Amino acid sequence: MEDVIRENEDLRKRLKELTAEASNNETIMKRTQARELTLLRADSLAQLLHAMVDGLRESYSLDAVSVVLLDPQHEVRHLLLAGGDRPEEFKQIFFVDSLVGLAPQLAALHKPWLGPFVGADHHLLFPGASNLKSAALVPLPRKDRATGALCFGSRDPTRFTRHHGTDFLSHLGAVAAVCIENAVNRARLLRAGITDFLTGWHNRRYLQQRLKEELARAQRHAGTMACLMLDIDRFKNINDGYGHLAGDNALKEVAHRVESQIRSMDTAARFGGDELAILLPEATASEAAKLAERIREVIAVEPFTLTAQIQRTLTVSIGVAAVAPGRHETDLKAVADRLLADADAALYRAKALGRNRVQVGTG
Ligand code: GH3
Ligand code: MG
Repeated sequence: MEDVIRENEDLRKRLKELTAEASNNETIMKRTQARELTLLRADSLAQLLHAMVDGLRESYSLDAVSVVLLDPQHEVRHLLLAGGDRPEEFKQIFFVDSLVGLAPQLAALHKPWLGPFVGADHHLLFPGASNLKSAALVPLPRKDRATGALCFGSRDPTRFTRHHGTDFLSHLGAVAAVCIENAVNRARLLRAGITDFLTGWHNRRYLQQRLKEELARAQRHAGTMACLMLDIDRFKNINDGYGHLAGDNALKEVAHRVESQIRSMDTAARFGGDELAILLPEATASEAAKLAERIREVIAVEPFTLTAQIQRTLTVSIGVAAVAPGRHETDLKAVADRLLADADAALYRAKALGRNRVQVGTG
């Protein structure tokens, strides 16, 4: 009888353990699914990488997370920074020419490696983290080779050991790898479609897209936004007198000087031939006019180098317009068109009044 009671108690205990384990597994699975969904939903490369580093660290309560990415052509880096994000924001992302070198396990990582954190082997993967005791290195597989790795570090020595199952992690790695490839492809397409080749600036299509977004933001915050429309004076004379290449150099240099004056939150775009547009979020008409005047001066003050032998002074005319979209405004597209038209009309007046000047639209 006592045996039966003991056996019964053992069974109950075992059942409790199993239930706890099952529920733990279920929690992990749910969390993993939720995490994977966040990765799948990220709509830019930057957002995806943030979701991988910060998101995974938080949801799995890890002490350190980093991502290693193969990027021998430096393309991923360029795409990432072209989105306007700063390199400091991606300290936990390592771009490498080859996977050999950062950690011995990365050289031939076919499935997740779990085990004790060894300083000599792993310190490069987790700079700044201290007291790590265990680590997981999860391959990001594409077409049967690793294109990088997700690296997890924990201060708990039992968190990642050889005896743990690796299915969850393998799956997470596979999903993350697809997400990265998608985001890189999307960034490539986007960049091809919205960039002006000569100036490296955004083009008109991108400007129109940003304009709508910024107007929506201005509307939410009951703020203003301004727009500058800038056109080079008598630019045809440069082309006619010194050739198309000299004209191209002038355009590039104008773009460069404009860029030196604007804030990182401003969007500069090539609107047409020698016409540039600049969106100034959170700026009033008078702030925008001041900036326009600075831009006009920085262009007129010093001659441009058109070819090795030829230097010429150039001037620009600038039209300024601003709006404060009201909360009742439903047609932001119309507001955007009006803003551009006002800036253009002001530019036209600046030309008519003799060029090399700034005019503010009456709105
Ligand atoms: P205005 O002061 O009235 O603006 O006179 P403008 O001569 O600048 O006249 P307009 O703005 O109409 O002329 C723009 C010229 O810019 C015409 C076109 O041939 C030239 N252009 C457009 N795109 C490029 C380019 O990518 N490179 C070069 N070199 N020239 C270009
Ligand atoms: Mg012109």
